[in-house]
Amino acid sequence: MPIKLLDEQVVAQIAAGEVVERPASVVKELIENALDAGAGSIHVETQEGGQRLIRVSDDGSGIAADEVLLAFTRHATSKLSTTADLEHIRTLGFRGEALASIAAVSRVQVVTQHHEETIGTQLQIEGGRLLQQSAVGVPHGTVVTVENLFFNTPARLKFLKSENTEKRQITTIITHYAMAYPGVRFILQQDGRESFRSSGRGQLADAVVQVLGLDIFKQMIEVSGQEPTPDGHSITVEGFVSDPQLHRADRTRIVLYINGRVIQDARLAYAAIQSYHTLLAEGRFPYAVLLLEMPPEYVDVNVHPTKAEVRFQNPDAVFVAVQRAVRQALLGYGQRQELRGRGYGHLTTQPAHPGSSGPAPAQLRLSLAEAAASDKDDLEHIPEGAGQPDQPRTLPVLRVIGQIGATYIIAEGPAGMYLIDQHAAHSRILYEQLLRSFREQETAVQHLLEARPITLPPADAQLLEAQQETLAGLGFLLDAFGPGTFLIRAVPAILADQDPVEALHALIHEPGPTGRKGAPLPLEQLAQRISARAAVKSGQILNMDEMRGLVHLLERTPSPHTGPDGSPTMLHMSSDQLAREFGRSRR
Ligand code: ADP
Ligand code: MG
Repeated sequence: MPIKLLDEQVVAQIAAGEVVERPASVVKELIENALDAGAGSIHVETQEGGQRLIRVSDDGSGIAADEVLLAFTRHATSKLSTTADLEHIRTLGFRGEALASIAAVSRVQVVTQHHEETIGTQLQIEGGRLLQQSAVGVPHGTVVTVENLFFNTPARLKFLKSENTEKRQITTIITHYAMAYPGVRFILQQDGRESFRSSGRGQLADAVVQVLGLDIFKQMIEVSGQEPTPDGHSITVEGFVSDPQLHRADRTRIVLYINGRVIQDARLAYAAIQSYHTLLAEGRFPYAVLLLEMPPEYVDVNVHPTKAEVRFQNPDAVFVAVQRAVRQALLGYGQRQELRGRGYGHLTTQPAHPGSSGPAPAQLRLSLAEAAASDKDDLEHIPEGAGQPDQPRTLPVLRVIGQIGATYIIAEGPAGMYLIDQHAAHSRILYEQLLRSFREQETAVQHLLEARPITLPPADAQLLEAQQETLAGLGFLLDAFGPGTFLIRAVPAILADQDPVEALHALIHEPGPTGRKGAPLPLEQLAQRISARAAVKSGQILNMDEMRGLVHLLERTPSPHTGPDGSPTMLHMSSDQLAREFGRSRR
């Protein structure tokens, strides 16, 4: 075949394929237009999964009589005029393609009246050809009816999924928008039957109830976070995520929005999932409805014709914003659960390693066993003692049952069963103690019998010098001793059993949280590293006294639910959940 230019109809049909992939994409585009037009109520009607008919009626601004035909022309839009506008798009549409694309592959009728005009317009297009246009008297707003979708593109028609699949897709789109726009009333009618309705008079929570149902909503935790950005703006994250007891086998119930737009973003979904860390079993996923708001220039929505994928100027910042907000919500929830817990289920298990002698450092054994001595066999009244007696209790009294894999302590409390990560928990305890003694200037130190020299390259030596005072407060007493060399005179008592030179090297040499070497570490970072180094390791066998001591100290540690690095210290299974898992709930 010789080369020739395709005629306009063919071009339009090819282009339409990018925007209009299936009936649900038509619904999505028409709803977005209604929302952009400021509708307060959107009514969607479909027949046969949308293939036969889709009708979207709105009470928005309407289209001016002399612009209706133009609206169906490719690249005709009222939402954008310069490329600069692309940087701060606040509307859902902007490409001016949807109406033209839909009209290229179906028969479309639009009836609309602009809110400032007294007469409306009716217009019919089929396969891109104008059939009829006339003036009509109608209420303000717009009704778009799409019939016989893909009638002139048999290939597309052949690849349509089943009617039920399309119906589900359409419902998903509408419910997703209903959650992002709780102030807009959505009604969906499929084959004459109403299948969804939102009130349009509520807050996000109301819309989530209407979409997910009250039972699920009851197990959702509110998320509300704000992450400042370097340029003085911020990324906010609002919404709901499921508590760890509610989960699914797939990630389809993680719904993400950026500035009111539903988006697909595997990485952000992962940020939410990852916040659950050990709280969810492998292969299980939470429910999440997360609405992110950020300055429009932070996000490029013009990546794909369907606008479902976006690109972020700073993907890491967005990732962190989601992760922090969700984690924060989960932490708060965990704490409330502890206080609320009731119902004492009796677990009887032999300790995993009764009285075994692992390689725990002498120092640790001593301090943990001391803490344990104060609450031996004492479950009823709150023990005072070695730990931090002046600290308020942050966990209920837990009874240690044993150790699993030389890594986790299993314990029971009034609220059910607890698996405690011994390293994370101990790190948290030591971290709090270290910061407290730093503030009160009474850090316990171990003086070395013989001062140990440490020699560093000039840059590192400078860095160490810059942190010398902080380090001294934490227990590392250093004297400058010639170029690049320091004498270590004392180390934090909790590191007494370690090689001082090695410990100090590790402390200052590993890259900081930003991965950047060469910047002095803040106090918290230093304290975190010292605690992690001093804490019991995974794989270390503990005897009962040591475990009791550890748990006892944890019970009075502020933020007992996370290690200083934010990783969870414990996994909690409530008595209710245990009953459920064993199918006892209805007995
Ligand atoms: P876009 O939404 O990207 O601008 P569309 O092809 O979807 O492109 O719509 C073209 C134009 O038609 C819009 O910019 C808007 O001005 C107008 N329009 C479409 N649908 C509606 C509606 N429901 N209410 C008011 N105006 C509408
Ligand atoms: Mg549009």
